[in-house]
Amino acid sequence: MQLSIAPEEADPLPIPNGDSRCCYHSGVSGASNSSPSRKLHTVFLDRDGVLNEKMPEGEYVRSARDLRVLPGVAEAVARLNRAGMRTIVVSNQRGIALGLYTAADVEAIHAELQGTLASRGGRIDGFFYCPHGEDECNCRKPLGGLFDQAVARFPDIEARSSAMIGDSLSDIEFGQRLGMRTVFLEGDPQRRKSGASRASELADLQFQSLPEAVDALIDGD
Ligand SMILES: [Mg+2]
Ligand SMILES: [Zn+2]
Repeated sequence: MQLSIAPEEADPLPIPNGDSRCCYHSGVSGASNSSPSRKLHTVFLDRDGVLNEKMPEGEYVRSARDLRVLPGVAEAVARLNRAGMRTIVVSNQRGIALGLYTAADVEAIHAELQGTLASRGGRIDGFFYCPHGEDECNCRKPLGGLFDQAVARFPDIEARSSAMIGDSLSDIEFGQRLGMRTVFLEGDPQRRKSGASRASELADLQFQSLPEAVDALIDGD
């Protein structure tokens, strides 16, 4: 549990598309921006198995009625919000391509989730999901399309000041390919997917649940 959660540098968040010459190391222009250990600015979160209870393998959260927010998650998201970190959900929703539910159902699930978080002071800043089947797009994790969509909406997002928290190999590969810090959640052993042990090895950090991961990220930042 050492890894890339390095101590924070003295300078604050990068100024988006801006002039950073106001800091003390003029002469080494851009040096601070090349550091791999920027202060954490954006936290990407997988949805199922991270924020809400994962359904058994092969089953899907199809409607707001299926949504069970995991214990402590709303408070953990609120802690991220208070720490000034942007929170983005990135989710593969192949069930849409399979005809099991619709994009409108996913929007309703996200509204329900947002409402549950709000009741404890938490907020997700953006939801992005892939509605496609396998091998037919560039936005199904581990591919990076959802990151590009998030950057299009929030242009100051940078991978090096972002972390990806997920419970699947595709989440960890997504974060790693983009150059983010990666956090694997071990979750319910009964519902672990194939690839989970590889994901756990690959990830920078491993925790049992989102609340534990959030505490570590905030303390380490
Ligand atoms: Mg998941
Ligand atoms: Zn897609």
